[in-house]
Amino acid sequence: MSLPAAEVQARLKDAVESGRLSCDAARVLTPHLLDPAVREPVLEAALESKRRGKGDLVTFSRNVFIPLTNLCRDRCAYCTFAKLPESPEARTYSLGEVRDVVRGGLATGCIEALFCLGDKPEVAYRSHQEWLDERGYDSTPAYLVDACRAAFEGGMLPHTNAGILSAEQMAELRPWNASMGLMLENVSPRLRERGMPHFHAPDKDPALRIRMHEEAGELAIPFTTGILLGIGETPEERLETLLVIRDLQSRFGHIQETIVQPFHPKPGTKMRAANSLPDEEVAAWVAMARLVLGPEANVQAPPNLAPRVLELLLRSGLNDWGGVSPVTVDFINPEAPWPTLPALHERTTAAGHRLRERLPVYPEDILGRPEMFDPNVRAAFGRFADAEGFARPDPAMEAA
Ligand code: SF4
Repeated sequence: MSLPAAEVQARLKDAVESGRLSCDAARVLTPHLLDPAVREPVLEAALESKRRGKGDLVTFSRNVFIPLTNLCRDRCAYCTFAKLPESPEARTYSLGEVRDVVRGGLATGCIEALFCLGDKPEVAYRSHQEWLDERGYDSTPAYLVDACRAAFEGGMLPHTNAGILSAEQMAELRPWNASMGLMLENVSPRLRERGMPHFHAPDKDPALRIRMHEEAGELAIPFTTGILLGIGETPEERLETLLVIRDLQSRFGHIQETIVQPFHPKPGTKMRAANSLPDEEVAAWVAMARLVLGPEANVQAPPNLAPRVLELLLRSGLNDWGGVSPVTVDFINPEAPWPTLPALHERTTAAGHRLRERLPVYPEDILGRPEMFDPNVRAAFGRFADAEGFARPDPAMEAA
């Protein structure tokens, strides 16, 4: 049964005026998001909410991607990033290789060193534990601390996404990281059942992931989270995930951004025959993220995963494109090239928004909440940030 237009409008007006979509309204709208008569007003309300919180600004971070190791103890059914140790593509970066990538990034004006790696490979693979032992490390996170330090001392600001980390491990990484992150993906335990994408992925236990978000909050670490769309979850489970993110933010105030990321099936994976969500549905969930999380939230969608519909995403209330690299590929989605920065600038501007480069963290935290950062990191901001907390303007972008 369709929803009366007047009810849709009333609920959305209330969400925009009050700054948050109520749980009740979100649960009423969710089953109808495929209906254009509901989806279009949802997009319009999300854009209005974004304008109230962020004006015409849309941001991005210029980064290099450092997949410190592509070994992982988990086996998510959609992943091509993780390799087995015997694969010719298995790779763990040496500290010298980390420094090389950083040098390449600096040469192209990158600020963020994005460390992304598999989860606890030493638990599953003795050869990796031996590799660490030979270098004097007892775990991958212990090695990661030195890798982040190398990137930081090499002149960049690391942001780390290393799967599940303990509070102690995050505390050790904090002096060398501007921020950290973990995609919440989805809070439904159903996705860990037999036949579901996380059956062989113990680190995708939602309770573990929520706990890490809480511990990052207790440590006051600026934290990136996100939802993954189209891996077998229901719309209701997506909404519940957004509501958990809202709850985490209201309890700890440390959620610096929420990524709305569509899954795309990859050859060679168990989910190779699965369907991606239609672009319109992805846009609807960007809009729902905006309306649930509110006008001040940073809502991000990766431009390389929906390159044909950047304008649609801009119409859905996002205010950030996330990390975009002029140097390295997206190692998680290597088939999806980044847009060039001039092209991103042109399309964002043509859609009526203003594109600005940020650091791995956001101006409101750099200027407004300096206590969120280790003094080490805080001191480094002076090298990269302008008086408003954005990255210093790049003459090439200004000319674009
Ligand atoms: S935890 Fe991440 S790297 Fe490991 S298999 Fe799952 S998606 Fe791939």
